[in-house]
Amino acid sequence: MKKISILIPAYNEQEVLEHLYQRLGKLANDNKDYQFEFLFVNDGSRDKTLEIIKKYAAKDSQVSYINLSRNFGKEIAMIAGLDHVTGDAAVIIDADLQDPPELIPEMIQYWEEGYDDVYAKRRSRAGESWLKKLTSSVFYKVLQKATDIPIQRDTGDFRLLDRRAIDAVTKIRDKNRYTKGYFSWIGYKKKEILYDRDPRAAGETHWNYLKLANLAIDGIVSFTIAPLRLATFLGVVISFFSFVYIIFLVVRTLFFENDLAGYPSMMAVILFLGGVQLLSLGIIGEYIGRIFNESKDRPLYLVEEYHAQPDQKAR
Ligand code: UDP
Ligand code: MG
Repeated sequence: MKKISILIPAYNEQEVLEHLYQRLGKLANDNKDYQFEFLFVNDGSRDKTLEIIKKYAAKDSQVSYINLSRNFGKEIAMIAGLDHVTGDAAVIIDADLQDPPELIPEMIQYWEEGYDDVYAKRRSRAGESWLKKLTSSVFYKVLQKATDIPIQRDTGDFRLLDRRAIDAVTKIRDKNRYTKGYFSWIGYKKKEILYDRDPRAAGETHWNYLKLANLAIDGIVSFTIAPLRLATFLGVVISFFSFVYIIFLVVRTLFFENDLAGYPSMMAVILFLGGVQLLSLGIIGEYIGRIFNESKDRPLYLVEEYHAQPDQKAR
């Protein structure tokens, strides 16, 4: 019997877990041709999340969990989970029920047809502000333009991965992770299914604009050196115009009278160049920071406890 692992990163999700667990239980009940594993990754929750998961694991042999040693963020929680899933396929799903588990049977169906990565694409984004929609749309456009890899629009981490796709993603050990990009990067056979994304069932989102901005920068910087190129182009263009301007100044001073005016234009040039230099330094800094992070050979995460399914040891 084939085994499907459901991977659930959970951070302070005590309000929704019961609801999620029931929907997952129903999923397993309705699909008895498959064995299921519900792998919860407790990402350093400060509420009762871990206790609740342990309660499930004690009474239900489908449940396994990893307790990370502290909060590492969803990106790391996902790789921790993927490292530990034991199924022939894995479905990554948010704990807050924004990703309906009812879509999973359809994913499994396509997986059986031979697709390696069946991902759910949002048709609507209920419960998200227009600002979040706008920023995400701009971000996708920029990322798409700047990288060679086709990035999937309006797609989250909610997807089914075949074992070989899991193994491919877990080979990527970047420390500043942008998992969504990796799904595109690995290639393999992809299938898109559409769904309506629900608002959070309960609890609060862990995202804010600072985190989103960070993720956007991680996404761009980890996939392309185009911004470095931009700094180079800016440098070349500005140097060219500066050079022309200098010649103009020299000629004017030598052959025509010079009344020493020009404070405003000087300030304009200084300020402009200062801005461009700071921008370029910032861009270069992003990449150097990345080199710094990658060169520290630290583990991505630490596991405080791993509870495997009773009948199954990890691969
Ligand atoms: N999450 C996590 N670690 C974190 C933040 C979030 O594992 O540091 C989990 C969270 O429990 C949920 C998923 O990642 O299962 C998505 O988080 P959230 O719903 O807050 O993000 P949003 O849906 O608003 O993008
Ligand atoms: Mg959510």
